[in-house]
Amino acid sequence: MTRAAYGKDAIYARMAFDSLKEWKALSAVSGLPIFHEHGVLFFFPGEEEYVRDSLAAHKAMNLPTKALSRAEMSRRFPMIDFSGVGVGLYEPGFGALMARRAVQTLVGIFVQRGGKYLEGQAQLPYPSGPRLGSVELASGERVMADRFVFALGPWLPKLFPDVVGSRIRPTRQEVFFFAPPAGDRRFQPQVMPGWADFNGGDVFYGFPDLEGRGVKFAHDAHGVQVDPDTQDRRPTQAAVAEIVAFRDRRFPALRGAPLTEARVCQYENSSNGDFLIDLHPRLANVLLVGGGSGHGFKHGPEVGRYAAGRLLGSAAIEPRFSLASKAEIHNREVH
Ligand SMILES: Cc1cc2nc3c(=O)[nH]c(=O)nc-3n(C[C@H](O)[C@H](O)[C@H](O)COP(=O)(O)OP(=O)(O)OC[C@H]3O[C@@H](n4cnc5c(N)ncnc54)[C@H](O)[C@@H]3O)c2cc1C
Repeated sequence: MTRAAYGKDAIYARMAFDSLKEWKALSAVSGLPIFHEHGVLFFFPGEEEYVRDSLAAHKAMNLPTKALSRAEMSRRFPMIDFSGVGVGLYEPGFGALMARRAVQTLVGIFVQRGGKYLEGQAQLPYPSGPRLGSVELASGERVMADRFVFALGPWLPKLFPDVVGSRIRPTRQEVFFFAPPAGDRRFQPQVMPGWADFNGGDVFYGFPDLEGRGVKFAHDAHGVQVDPDTQDRRPTQAAVAEIVAFRDRRFPALRGAPLTEARVCQYENSSNGDFLIDLHPRLANVLLVGGGSGHGFKHGPEVGRYAAGRLLGSAAIEPRFSLASKAEIHNREVH
């Protein structure tokens, strides 16, 4: 999901907004869409700080985000039962990014322009000196470069246990897709937005039926801590039961809809949800990038811009992305 609602964390609102232009440009040349502009609706039991702060940030950025009453939401989005909901935050220009397609398209363009793309498993890269000269892959091949970026998602703490360690914790997350009733148009992206039910802080979110894959539901709560190499990728009955109960309450027209797909993946949480984009403390030409914390994908273009700036020494340093700001004790703040 790409959205600019970030409450008090206006830095991410700006990054999401700036990144969206790049995603649209990539979508325009990718053949199949990378961006689906179906709008995003966050809804809350009542008016809360997150809503007020998001609206203020969006106003400053000239975004057409609107606060909607429960009656307005019920009229516009009749596929959702808004019982217990007081207010909504609607972002018309945002929506869904097709993440895998986006990355593949980008790699294709990179190679077309003469870049070399190589798949391989990098080994622990510690040299004896203050700079890294090369990285050895599991295949035995050696990759030489002046500068290196390690953007390893939930694997970052595994390759850099001494520096990253428990500052980034991978947690188990399950997502589910349900088939809408045949011929029922209410769950199509033309009429249904991406959404998140803030639910007093226990957030559930989902998407319309994108490209016929099914209506997506997920619980945003951090799951148990896992190792991304060994965690069980089978969905649990408990999570299926939880998501079905939620679905039946908020999307009553989907009662009985068959589960068509489930996936188990992992968030890579930093201590508070801020990203890690910083130089390795002992290797001046190595940049560590990670801590996407369940919200990182949409910011890819701006993360890339900042990362390049840090490596080349041209970016103004953002303290929130520093290694020093990442604690070992986790207390999620960014949503
Ligand atoms: C369920 C779920 C829902 C999410 N929803 C959203 C959302 O709605 N919006 C949003 O913006 N973000 C969302 N995110 C977060 C987003 O997906 C991540 O923050 C983002 O994909 C992280 O990208 P990355 O490139 O840092 O890491 P990854 O995508 O994890 O990529 C890391 C790569 O490094 C490779 N690697 C690891 N170790 C090595 C090694 N030793 N050598 C070589 N390669 C290695 C891995 O194979 C992998 O390809 C969600 C995440 C999850 C799990």
